[in-house]
Amino acid sequence: MKFNVLSILILFLGMCHVLSSCKKTEELIDFTEEDEIALGEKLAEAIAADEGFSILPTEGNSIPYGYVNSRILEITSASQISKGDEFIWRIYLLDDPERQAFALPGGHIYVTTGMIFFLDNEDQFSGLLAHLIAHIDQSHITQALFFKYGVNRLKNLSTSGGVTELKSIIDDLDLSDSFLPFSRGNELEADTLAISMLSETEQSCESVKLFFEKTLNVQANNQAALIAAHLLQESRLEDISTFASSVGCDVTVDDQSGSRFRSFRNALP
Ligand SMILES: [Zn+2]
Repeated sequence: MKFNVLSILILFLGMCHVLSSCKKTEELIDFTEEDEIALGEKLAEAIAADEGFSILPTEGNSIPYGYVNSRILEITSASQISKGDEFIWRIYLLDDPERQAFALPGGHIYVTTGMIFFLDNEDQFSGLLAHLIAHIDQSHITQALFFKYGVNRLKNLSTSGGVTELKSIIDDLDLSDSFLPFSRGNELEADTLAISMLSETEQSCESVKLFFEKTLNVQANNQAALIAAHLLQESRLEDISTFASSVGCDVTVDDQSGSRFRSFRNALP
C-alpha cells in the first residue's frame, strides 16, 4: 500500500480543503450526485486494479464483511444523513498492517486490518466509520478534489476516466505538502453529523471522540503533526461532548462492545 502514515488522517489531510470561493460552490452545484457516484466508482476500480492495495475478497470472508456492512448500514440508515439512500455505501477491508482508513466520493470506505487490530471496541470502530461517512455525505472529499483538479477534469474522469489519470489521483492521495487539511468548518460539520447519526445506533454517540482519543494515544514522530492538524483543534474533543450533551444522546459504551469487536477481528484471515 502506498500511504505511509497513520491512516484516517492521511486522506483527510490529503484531501481536505477549504472551499473558499463562490466559483467553487457553483461548480459543486454543477457536479451532481450521479457525477460523484460515477467518480467514486472510477477511483474504486482504479484502486481494485492497483497492486499496491490488497483488498480482502468478500468471498470466503462473509463473517467479517457481514460485520462491517452491518456497522455501515446502521450508521447510513440514520435520519440525519443526506445521501444515505442516494450513495452506494461500500466498505473494503485492506490486508495491510499500516493503520489507515480513507474514503472516496459516492460512498467508498477503506479500512486496513492494521487499523482494525489497533482499535479496542465496536464504538471506536463505529466512530471512525461515522467520521468517514460524514465527510462523504457532506461531499467534503469531492470539494477537495475540485480544488485540485477543477470540475471539468473531474466530470471527464467520472465519465471516461483514463487509467493514467485515475492512477494519478490515487497517487495524489498520498501525503503531500500540496494538500491542505479539511477546513475547521468541514470538521465541525463532520463531527455534528457523526454524533447525530451515532445517536440513532446502539453505539455511544461520542464514538468519534473515543476513536480520536485512541488515536491520540499513539506516539509516533511522523504522526504528531497530523494529529495536531486534524484532531487537536483546541477544544475539539470537548466540543464533541458538549454537542452530544446538547442533543441528549446516549454516550454509554455497552460492556459487550469489546467482545463483539474481538469476535469480528478473530474472523479475519
Ligand atoms: Zn475529518
